[in-house]
Amino acid sequence: MPTVQQALLAASRQLSAHSSSPRLDAEVILAYLLGWQRAALLARGDTLLEPRQEEEYATLVSRRAKGEPVAYITGVREFYWLDLVMTPDVLVPRPETESVVDACLEAIPPDRDALLADIGTGSGAIVVATCKQRPRLKAYATDVSAAAVEVARANATRHGVQEQITFFVGDLLAPLPGPVHVLAANLPYVSPGEAAPDVATWEPHVAVFGGGEDGTETIRRFLVDAPRYLCPEGRVVMETAYSQGAEVSRLAGEAFPGSRIEVRKDLAGYDRIVVIQT
Ligand code: SAH
Repeated sequence: MPTVQQALLAASRQLSAHSSSPRLDAEVILAYLLGWQRAALLARGDTLLEPRQEEEYATLVSRRAKGEPVAYITGVREFYWLDLVMTPDVLVPRPETESVVDACLEAIPPDRDALLADIGTGSGAIVVATCKQRPRLKAYATDVSAAAVEVARANATRHGVQEQITFFVGDLLAPLPGPVHVLAANLPYVSPGEAAPDVATWEPHVAVFGGGEDGTETIRRFLVDAPRYLCPEGRVVMETAYSQGAEVSRLAGEAFPGSRIEVRKDLAGYDRIVVIQT
């Protein structure tokens, strides 16, 4: 029987050929299996795994070795300090999407009522994190995937913001009852052939591929309709691919002539967020 420490070492070796973060993945999966905090793995590294645990761990690690995201294996993912429930129906929220939340919070003073819409809400990451930080905020959240909306609803309830959010299933902005102060959208933007193989295999294609030759078709359709759903002096916050900053700014300029358009970079220095201030 291996100790916790030995099991982690073997699993991170096995995962090193398949993951850019083998040790972290091995730890997150074992902590999930044992029901421990990750820090406990270090503190109690000489605990012996029972044969049943060893067997289960091998099964979960081999799922990861086939490319399945850790978040689908454990069913949770941390985003903006919140544990979000995950299923294979939703995109695993990426760290760079936390900047979308930051840009929304900048636009919403804590002491005022405001209305936000999160278009293509997926797991609800953006809308749940933003509502959690702004208790007076009301929000709409839409997704074309009914299964994704169920996950988003579960996350809203889990974090006590379900009264702030109204959910809709439908195409882009069409389900919204009226205009809002802030439109947030992390819509699919990957172009055909550009997705990492694991992403294309495991994550929902409707959440990944944006359509059109360069992947901007869904964003383009969103921007064409966006002016009708934005209050005067409103803000639009969008996430894009690193290669799409210029094209999305151009589309934004067409949709919102005379507005201030800003392209922000992610921590790696790539274009990532486009903010339109009308
Ligand atoms: N906002 C989440 C999910 C992003 S993935 C996050 O940042 O993590 C993109 C989401 O857009 C998916 O949930 C997908 O189902 C949804 N989507 C794709 N096309 C759509 C459309 N035409 N209308 C509404 N939602 C759409």
